[in-house]
Amino acid sequence: MSSSQPQPSRKTPPPEIAALSPPMTPPSAKASLPKKDEPADMNIPDNYVDHTIKTVKPLPPITWENWYKELNWLNVAILGITPCIALYGMFTTKLQWETALFGVFYYFFTGLGITAGYHRLWAHRSYNASKPMEYTLALMGAGAVEGSIKWWARGHRAHHRYTDTDLDPYGAHRGLLWSHIGWMIVKPRRKPGVADVSDLSKNEIVRWQHRWYVYLILIMGFIVPTVVPGLLWGDYKGGYFYAGALRLLFVHHSTFCVNSLAHWLGDTPFDDKHTPRDHLITALVTIGEGYHNFHHQFPMDYRNAIKWYQYDPTKWFIWGCQQVGLASHLKVFPDNEVRKGQLTMQLKKLRQTQEDLSWPQESNDLPVISWESYLQQAEKRPLVSIAGFIHDVSSFLDEHPGGRHLLMKNIGRDATTAFFGGVYDHSNAAHNLLAMMRVGVLRGGVPHANEERAIPPSQKLRVLRYNEIGSSTAHSDGEGMLG
Ligand SMILES: [Zn+2]
Ligand SMILES: [Zn+2]
Repeated sequence: MSSSQPQPSRKTPPPEIAALSPPMTPPSAKASLPKKDEPADMNIPDNYVDHTIKTVKPLPPITWENWYKELNWLNVAILGITPCIALYGMFTTKLQWETALFGVFYYFFTGLGITAGYHRLWAHRSYNASKPMEYTLALMGAGAVEGSIKWWARGHRAHHRYTDTDLDPYGAHRGLLWSHIGWMIVKPRRKPGVADVSDLSKNEIVRWQHRWYVYLILIMGFIVPTVVPGLLWGDYKGGYFYAGALRLLFVHHSTFCVNSLAHWLGDTPFDDKHTPRDHLITALVTIGEGYHNFHHQFPMDYRNAIKWYQYDPTKWFIWGCQQVGLASHLKVFPDNEVRKGQLTMQLKKLRQTQEDLSWPQESNDLPVISWESYLQQAEKRPLVSIAGFIHDVSSFLDEHPGGRHLLMKNIGRDATTAFFGGVYDHSNAAHNLLAMMRVGVLRGGVPHANEERAIPPSQKLRVLRYNEIGSSTAHSDGEGMLG
């Protein structure tokens, strides 16, 4: 069922969307939702990505003439002044060990606000958190000074949805520098692709954080890390410079590495269609967000690392919160599906190895000759019949480990029994090598030929693409019901 009539409650689509045929959405769903609760992506057309990229013009490229007009000065200030303050502090203020320890703690504290809170809880809803935990995470995340939950999660959902396209706000296809920091320093060349955050708009904690955000970043980003060392061991200055500014610098670039390093360094054990990668180094610098290939495949999973020994403190933190009753409904993707992804990539690599090797000619590609013709031709060249195939062994006469004479003896004869254990039970390697000497197929085969012997060991297990397997086994049984 589809509706071709625009519903009265529908928002006026932007002109680039309105130009298309009406999108297909179930009328019942539209009718039941009040306008303000309607998901942002409810009415996008089926060819939204291509169409938007083709028809909506990006801002002009940044050049030496226009760059100063294109900078996002607020972000430049935040990201530029923080390292200056940190550097000034390092040269002017002695680091006390208590402050150093607190700084490291506060790095993890605010970093987890982003990884466990902003990212895995709000952007991906990979678990449920109790209200006290949500408020705490919202405060912790505010201390990382990376924008409000709502802004951050909206961008991140677009990143997952439009990975490596121009609608991805930090698309890795535009280079490491762009995905790390460039996208914040300059005004975005395009609006990120549409992503629904209506669930977050309804969340009271997200709204509370968004409303008081400026105060919260001042309190959690600077006041708390200054006052705690100040009150407890009298180091206000050190607290401000080290636990405040230097820690913030680390938290910033740690999170930014999820967009840059995690799309650049490492392996693709689950899917290699896009740029996300898995690497221990990325995990170490991002509080466990480094298994990014897994994460892009299974974004609703509360884990990034699936093995117990892989470094994912964010996962351990969420699990710990569950143990004390603060978190629940931790989502885990079915292991069967995870392993399917891994197997696909392993087979892909094996297929490549297979394609890099030379293989014997198949019977369809070889001439079929009669026994009489074989006998005649064997008088002129050293031909041996084994398992229904005729082999030219001229290049191997002097290489044969059993001696030339054993080969010579079988020229113009059927040596199947002798080859398969009658005289010597040849190795897999010998069988594989023999197959490379095929020059023809014997009409009607020979009594000793069977599939077991006709197929060389190296080809008994092969990686085949779905369209190489032969005819489809799908069939119709009339009035059957779907299982
Ligand atoms: Zn990513
Ligand atoms: Zn994510």
